[in-house]
Amino acid sequence: MDQRRRVPRTDAVLADPRLVAAAARAGRHVVKSAVTRAQERARGGEIEPERVADAALEELRRVAPARAVINATGVLLHTNLGRAPLSAAAVDAVATAAGNTDVEFDLDSGGRARRGRGALAALAAAVPEAGGVHVVNNNAAALVLAATALAAGREIVISRGELVEIGDGFRIPDLLVSTGARLREVGTTNLTHLADYTGAVGPETGFVLKVHPSNFRVEGFTGSVPARELAAARLGVPLVVDIGSGLLAREPLLPDEPDAASTLRAGADLVTASGDKLLGGPQAGLLLGRRELVERLRRHPLARALRVDKLTLAALEATLRDAEPPVRRALRARPEDLAERAAAIVRKLEGIVTAAVARVPATVGGGGAPGVELPSAAVALPAELARRLRTGEPAVVGRVEDGRLLLDLRTVPPGQDEALAGAVLAACR
Ligand SMILES: *Cc1c(COP(=O)(O)O)cnc(C)c1O
Repeated sequence: MDQRRRVPRTDAVLADPRLVAAAARAGRHVVKSAVTRAQERARGGEIEPERVADAALEELRRVAPARAVINATGVLLHTNLGRAPLSAAAVDAVATAAGNTDVEFDLDSGGRARRGRGALAALAAAVPEAGGVHVVNNNAAALVLAATALAAGREIVISRGELVEIGDGFRIPDLLVSTGARLREVGTTNLTHLADYTGAVGPETGFVLKVHPSNFRVEGFTGSVPARELAAARLGVPLVVDIGSGLLAREPLLPDEPDAASTLRAGADLVTASGDKLLGGPQAGLLLGRRELVERLRRHPLARALRVDKLTLAALEATLRDAEPPVRRALRARPEDLAERAAAIVRKLEGIVTAAVARVPATVGGGGAPGVELPSAAVALPAELARRLRTGEPAVVGRVEDGRLLLDLRTVPPGQDEALAGAVLAACR
């Protein structure tokens, strides 16, 4: 029979109870256009006519509005799950800023004020070593701004051991070259010496860049030149350091992770970092350093294209004023407390599903502290539950390991334990 004639009519497809439910959530016109596309695919022979409703549902799931997810992966900063969750204070600040705010207005004088001055003041107060601070869209934007303003048409000296791919196919060297700067690569993948830098710096140099290897580790016969030694060598050009994860001060639990204050004290002229990694704030790029350098970046025309919106500024300011945003709290959680929470959840599941407490390692992820394992505790469940939990309400994402699903509590805020247990019970039904 003609394939085209077997394609079900729109009314018939829309009567599918799953699509009726979807229409209640997403709106009838959205569902109808998904059905139309599925019918077209069936007419073209791309899918079986019986699968029109399924195909429409699959599309609706793919393009559904962003949903809240409980991060039970054990990866503290999961880039695909939106990295750092904001604190309650930051969420409140975002809600307040969503209307009209004094982001660029002085209520006292009635005149214009410096945009985002609250966030900038909080950042400056957190890192007194910085003579100037500025905030852009993300760390990649911070690097683009520095490269454009300080090295377009000139050279950036960088070690071959620090040519990093950030993720999703994006690479820092490509990013830098896209600004019109040239890379002067020095040293080798495993070893770079101070002499490599001193031999390369010359009249063409815009700046020397150090990039923290935040998502990998090289072991064995390796060595790089610390910022302190590069600064002490007085190369006569700015030393820019991309520290990656956004720690403003030393974190005792992550002794190998660089921080802004120490890096500036070591003599760096400019530090760049992300706002949504270990700082625990919104997506943002932080620039901290010598006052006149930061001022040059701030006044560069490109700065206007990279500026952050009022929601980001509000979230960043609240995060900087918060002693312990969720990421920091998760990092510092004690394994015994995590095991106790896991045991409480396991008790709730007794007689319903095979569940056990598992002592497992969690990680920082998201470009921070590679190789560091944080002792943690998880609820271990049958692996078959993984998909049901991901597609449930709330969505729960764990990790499947050795044939079982692990829900790692280090990355779950304690306030979500009850919702997590409820989601597991619903998935078992
Ligand atoms: C994560 C990271 C970046 C990219 O930061 P975004 O804020 O995602 O743009 C750049 N450099 C290093 C070293 C990083 O760890």
